[in-house]
Amino acid sequence: MSERRTGWVYHEAYMWHDTGRTRAFDPELRRWMQSWEHWENPDTKRRLNNLLEISEFSEELVQLKPRPANEEQVLRFHTPEYVDRVRALSAEDGGDAGEGAPFSHGGYEIALLSAGGAITAVDAVLDGTVDNAYALTRPPGHHAERDRGRGFCIFGNVAIASMHALAERGIEKIATLDWDVHHGNGTQQAFYERRDVLTMSIHQDQWYPRESGRLTEQGEGEGEGYNINVPLPPGSGHGAYVETIRQVVAPALEAFRPDLIVVPSGFDGSMYDPLGRMMAYSETFREMTRLLMASADQLCGGRLVLSHEGGYSPTYVPFCGLAVVEELSGKKSIAGDPFEDNSATAGGQDLQPHQQAVIDDAKLLVDRLRQLEGV
Ligand SMILES: [Zn+2]
Repeated sequence: MSERRTGWVYHEAYMWHDTGRTRAFDPELRRWMQSWEHWENPDTKRRLNNLLEISEFSEELVQLKPRPANEEQVLRFHTPEYVDRVRALSAEDGGDAGEGAPFSHGGYEIALLSAGGAITAVDAVLDGTVDNAYALTRPPGHHAERDRGRGFCIFGNVAIASMHALAERGIEKIATLDWDVHHGNGTQQAFYERRDVLTMSIHQDQWYPRESGRLTEQGEGEGEGYNINVPLPPGSGHGAYVETIRQVVAPALEAFRPDLIVVPSGFDGSMYDPLGRMMAYSETFREMTRLLMASADQLCGGRLVLSHEGGYSPTYVPFCGLAVVEELSGKKSIAGDPFEDNSATAGGQDLQPHQQAVIDDAKLLVDRLRQLEGV
C-alpha cells in the first residue's frame, strides 16, 4: 500500500461537550432506574486519540486544527428557528436539542466546532493539503434533522460539510456512505430530493431511528433513486459488511462517479458495542476503508473524508479507529488490536444467506442508479 498524507482533526473542546447523566427514556419508568453516565461521553473518542498519541502514530498524520462552522454554513441544512433554539439553550444551562440530544452550557459553540471539523477535513482534502482525512469530532451529526437534534446529534456535520463543498468549493457530486450501526437519517433527509448527492447507509435493521432506514426509502423527486439503504440483520459480521461494500457500495460509486466521498464513520457496528448487535471488528473497518479508497482512487483522485459518529465501547473503538487511519495513511503503527483473535474467530463472521438476501435487494437499487446515470 502506498503512503499518503492523512489529515487528523481533533480538538480538546470536543471532549468538553457534556451530555450529563442519562435515565430511562420513558418518564413513567424513570424512577426505577438509577441514572448512569451517558453513552455518548468523551471516553471512547478521547481513548482513540490517546492510542494514536501513545503509539506515536499521531506523528504520521497531518494535524488539522478545526475552525467553527459559521451560521451561513449551518443554515444551509438547519432551520433558523432550530439554530436559535440551540444557541439560546446553550447560553443558559443547556437542554435537549430535540429527541435525546442533550448538551450543557456552551454546547452550541462546541457543536459549531464539530460541524466545522468536518468542513476543515473536506477543505484540506479539496485544497490538496492532505490526500484524505479523518475528523474525530463531538457531538456526532448523522441523526440531526433539519429542525431538531436527535440521537446524541445536534448539527448534521457531514450534511453541512457536503453542502459547503457543493456551494463554496465547486464540487458537483458527492457520495456519502454511513457505516455507523444506526441509520444515517439526518444525512438522508438533507439530500433526499437531490441527485447531486448519493446517500448510502449500512446499518442494523430497524434499530435507531426505528422508523427509518428501510430499503424502500430511495429518495424523492429529483433525488429518486439516489438514496440507498442496506438494513443488515442483527448479528451481521465481517463478511456481511465487506460484501455490502463490494456488491453494493463500490458498484454504486462507479455508476455515480462522485467528485468526493464522505463517510459518517461510527464504530458501534463492532461486536463489543453496547448500543448495537453487530459483529464487525478492526479488520472489518480496515477492509471497508481499503475498498472505499480503491473506489476513490479510480473515481475522484482518492478524495475521501471520514467524520466520526457513534461507537460506545471505550475499550474497542480506539482499535477500530486506528485500523482506519493506518489504512488511510498507508502506514502501520506499532500498536496491535488485543481483541483481534477473539473477534476474527467468532462464529457468524462469514456472510450468511439471510444477509446476502438483503444485499441482493440492495443490488437492484444499484441497477436503477446505473439507468438513471445512463451507464
Ligand atoms: Zn450509532
